[in-house]
Amino acid sequence: ETYTDTDKDQILQDNLEHTLFSWSKQTGLNPISAERAEGVYLYDRDGKRYIDFSSQLMNVNIGHGDQRVTEAVAAQMRELSYVYPGMITKARGDLGRRLAEITAPNLTKAFFTLGGAEAIENAIKLARVYTGRHKIVSLYQSFHGASYGALSVGGDPRKFAVDSQAMPGTVHVENPYFYRCPWYSETPEQCAERAAAAMERIIGYENPGSVAAIIMEGESGTSGCIKYPPTYWTRVREICDKHGILLIADEVMSGFGRTGKWFGSDHHGVKVDIMCMAKGITAGYLPLGAVMVDDTIAHHFDDRPLPLGLTYSAHPVSCAAAVAVLDIYEEDGLLDNTVQMGKHLDKRVAELIEKHPSIGDWRNTGLFGCLELVKNRATKEPMAPWNAAPSQMDIMNKVAARIKELGMYTFVRWNYIFIAPPLNITKDELDEGLAIISEALSIADEYVH
Ligand code: PLP
Repeated sequence: ETYTDTDKDQILQDNLEHTLFSWSKQTGLNPISAERAEGVYLYDRDGKRYIDFSSQLMNVNIGHGDQRVTEAVAAQMRELSYVYPGMITKARGDLGRRLAEITAPNLTKAFFTLGGAEAIENAIKLARVYTGRHKIVSLYQSFHGASYGALSVGGDPRKFAVDSQAMPGTVHVENPYFYRCPWYSETPEQCAERAAAAMERIIGYENPGSVAAIIMEGESGTSGCIKYPPTYWTRVREICDKHGILLIADEVMSGFGRTGKWFGSDHHGVKVDIMCMAKGITAGYLPLGAVMVDDTIAHHFDDRPLPLGLTYSAHPVSCAAAVAVLDIYEEDGLLDNTVQMGKHLDKRVAELIEKHPSIGDWRNTGLFGCLELVKNRATKEPMAPWNAAPSQMDIMNKVAARIKELGMYTFVRWNYIFIAPPLNITKDELDEGLAIISEALSIADEYVH
């Protein structure tokens, strides 16, 4: 479609005057007016092209505009657009079986939601009902969604807005964040051991018999790609087993190939009891989330009513989109491409580290990476602190503005630049994006002292 300047102004005005934008002050917004997208590229209404280096919100894993999904969605729409969740549909059954296959042998049954936060809410509810306990242990540097329970178990400062009414029964512990390990540590393993020991002590103080579940991101996302050192998950699993606590993996962002395996927790070889999914399950083409449980939890509800329900649970069209997207991950070999491109990315970023003193740390698995920017490599003084006030964001705002100007959309937060492009990205496209980031990093370099 071609838009006149009047059309463009009208679209902008309708958006800004009659809709609210997430997490932002509503004045002074300058959002991209998105018109169309294909592969790793997004185009605005002035025809400007942006390379999408964070797959929007780390969800468009198969890239934009894949017509195979469009076809599957249209076919499902034509045949059966909706039935209530008490009915059987082919799309729902197909998706359940496919998810059980990729989480085998641990997990067997899925309850479908509309997105990530709802998956978390339902996982918390299940864990509480199943164990008869109420506390949920989670990590401070984590984000699990914006609804009350999910926001409360997360540790992201966005929860400050509702702190006084937070969901009761949340207990937070510190992450095994090796670059800034809260316990003096020489190796990632030491940091992991000390973080796990601290978690266990805190669970002791909190009364282990009151803890229903420990919830962790399969791999950290929004909080800055804080990687779990080896042995951390194993230790957490031991703590769970010792105290009868369930382990919930939030794979909303880290799932569906993002790390080069189906799920982030797959890198650690531990069994989880419950897994939350969303985002990559449909690669953003339609809203969908899922809570998957193991056999024991599933059978618990053989003779008791499952206390969960949503009008749009197992929406046939979303399920059909997800099945088409799962086919694409497999047919196009996207997990393998992620591993290959991840290696290329690591190699290229190593070159950037030589060139740009503002890079303090690079943490990446597959195509799930964050550059952490610092003013000084020795002191690790961050380019902007955790929960930076607007006045502390001057430098990072300049970096972000330059990235946008040069034709890239990516997620920039505090002192982190995210690199999490669609999983079908090529080497040339990666290099093209990294050239933009390199140019923008020159701005940050000026503030290094
Ligand atoms: N969990 C994780 C790890 C996330 O990254 C997010 C969103 O960014 C959510 C849950 C919430 O998902 P949604 O925004 O679909 O509710």
